[in-house]
Amino acid sequence: MTAASGGDDIEARARKLHFASIVVDTHDDTTQRFLDGDFDLLPRNGSGSIDIPRMKEGGLGAIFFSIWIPSKITGPDAVKRALDQIDAVHEQTRKHPKEITLATTAAEIREARKDGKIAALMGVEGGHMIASDLTVLRSYAALGVRYMTLTHSGNDEWADSSTDKAAHNGLSDFGKDVVREMNRLGMIVDISHVSDKTFYDALEVSKAPLIGSHSSCRAVCDAPRNMTDQMIKDLATKGGVIQINYHVGFLSQEFRDAEKADPEINKAIAAEVEKRCGDKEGCQLIEGDKITREYVDKGKLPRVDWTKIIEHIDHAVKIGGVEHVGLGSDFDGANMPYGMEDASKLPKITEALLRKGYSEGDVKKILGENTLRVMTEVERVSREMNAQR
Ligand SMILES: [Zn+2]
Repeated sequence: MTAASGGDDIEARARKLHFASIVVDTHDDTTQRFLDGDFDLLPRNGSGSIDIPRMKEGGLGAIFFSIWIPSKITGPDAVKRALDQIDAVHEQTRKHPKEITLATTAAEIREARKDGKIAALMGVEGGHMIASDLTVLRSYAALGVRYMTLTHSGNDEWADSSTDKAAHNGLSDFGKDVVREMNRLGMIVDISHVSDKTFYDALEVSKAPLIGSHSSCRAVCDAPRNMTDQMIKDLATKGGVIQINYHVGFLSQEFRDAEKADPEINKAIAAEVEKRCGDKEGCQLIEGDKITREYVDKGKLPRVDWTKIIEHIDHAVKIGGVEHVGLGSDFDGANMPYGMEDASKLPKITEALLRKGYSEGDVKKILGENTLRVMTEVERVSREMNAQR
């Protein structure tokens, strides 16, 4: 079959391909909702983007639940809250063993798939949650955490963030130790959120490939959270993967410019979020998306279509190669584009890539195989390092 086949043909072929692939999403903020109240993954939910029915509908095979607290929370409080979130993810898999299962390796993701289950994984989003203590890092690994984003929006005690003033010239010496220990533990080093210098320091120190678990392309949308073409190339050279983020502020230059042109809009959105949610972070993330959409509907912010995701995927493929691009939605933690409101919409990505002329094998790589390859490689490096001791 060729790209010249009729439209319906491609649609049917896309669905078949999509549901025959292991789709991996490296970043979801749903964890916040587990702690906010009575949110549960099993029933279909009226809000947000992730639950078991919609993951099944969208053919999502593996999901990395983000363990996240704001950068300003540090020390023992940060550790306690991270542990609560790790426990909440464990609890969801314990409550729904027929539907979802905890996985910590690429092989376990494939096994879950064979058993007809969704694989749940965990990533700690921000090095501040280890409280500058490698024993805490090791405990997270022991509890099943398989990646750590070196920073969130603010600097850690040992690494600079892309959205804070540089304080460490990238990674401090301790920060480099953290990266080495992550390599030994088999935790993927995630460079989303970090400053460009931190990225290059991590790339130099790490013995295993890195990921940008939820970052997009700076050449398409000039956000510090996105990766430059050079960074995408350098990440790829070391075997890594950039997992494209669906957040409208990282996808669309037009949206970004509109936000910048009228800072009052963001302030008003933040005030409304606070009014609706108080300090409940899960609620804040969901309502922030809803309220932003209200502004789009009123014509105060531009409407961003889901096809922008495809534009970023295609750009990253052209720059880094098809082996080095994946999916990292930021569902339940960011503002989703029109047409990609939740996980049930994921098959559209497969169809769009086929229509663009991507081969079935290449689509599979982007959907999940590239991320699985990085995991396997990180696991191999870990085994080797441990054998040396
Ligand atoms: Zn993030």
